[in-house]
Amino acid sequence: MNPERRYAPLSALQHFVYCERQCALIHLEQVWINNRLTAEGNLLHEKVHETSGENRPGIRLVRGLSVVSETLGVIGQCDLVEFLSSRKRHPNAAERWDAVRPVEYKRGRPKSHAADLVQLCAQAICLEEMLGIPITEGALFYGEPRRRTEVPFTLELRDTTIQAAQALHALLERGVTPAALYRASLCRGCSLLQICLPRRRETPAQVGNWFRDTLNQLLMER
Ligand code: SF4
Repeated sequence: MNPERRYAPLSALQHFVYCERQCALIHLEQVWINNRLTAEGNLLHEKVHETSGENRPGIRLVRGLSVVSETLGVIGQCDLVEFLSSRKRHPNAAERWDAVRPVEYKRGRPKSHAADLVQLCAQAICLEEMLGIPITEGALFYGEPRRRTEVPFTLELRDTTIQAAQALHALLERGVTPAALYRASLCRGCSLLQICLPRRRETPAQVGNWFRDTLNQLLMER
């Protein structure tokens, strides 16, 4: 590992793809708010990390594995890595795996944005560099449907992940937090909404529309 290199946390990549401003607020300005969403996420990850590792026939599960990538310049931990083997081995034989699969646990439902996919793909790139084997797919496990979504690591997803990592490092080096841009689908689920106040930057007409829409919604819910 190059000691001069500045490594970004894997979580920063996920935050960056979700919203550049959220990433800057957390990783440049050290802003963080604990709320119901973050508490649920922390609880889910604590449960996943409770067991450090276990074996089943043909599969070894490793939780909380530390990973790093020179290509991406990121460092972090995988919630779970599955090492799969279809061959019967002598108990003393060196471990050889047919496939390795990272699994990331997320609260809520599958999302329409690519942040979780990019974070998982970044874990796969880390593991490929560390283990020297190709990793073709991983999985996201969402809390609400309590179901896995298989994720193939396509060339397109890999390109997106590499470009996102480069753009993340550029943001961290610039050290300037981007201005807020309100996007309902992202901002409503953002733990920093109360600090970021993205609607403040909108024009009075836009704020007026928002106020009218919110009022109508409240009246309909009564
Ligand atoms: S509230 Fe919206 S603009 Fe602000 S950090 Fe969150 S997602 Fe980004």
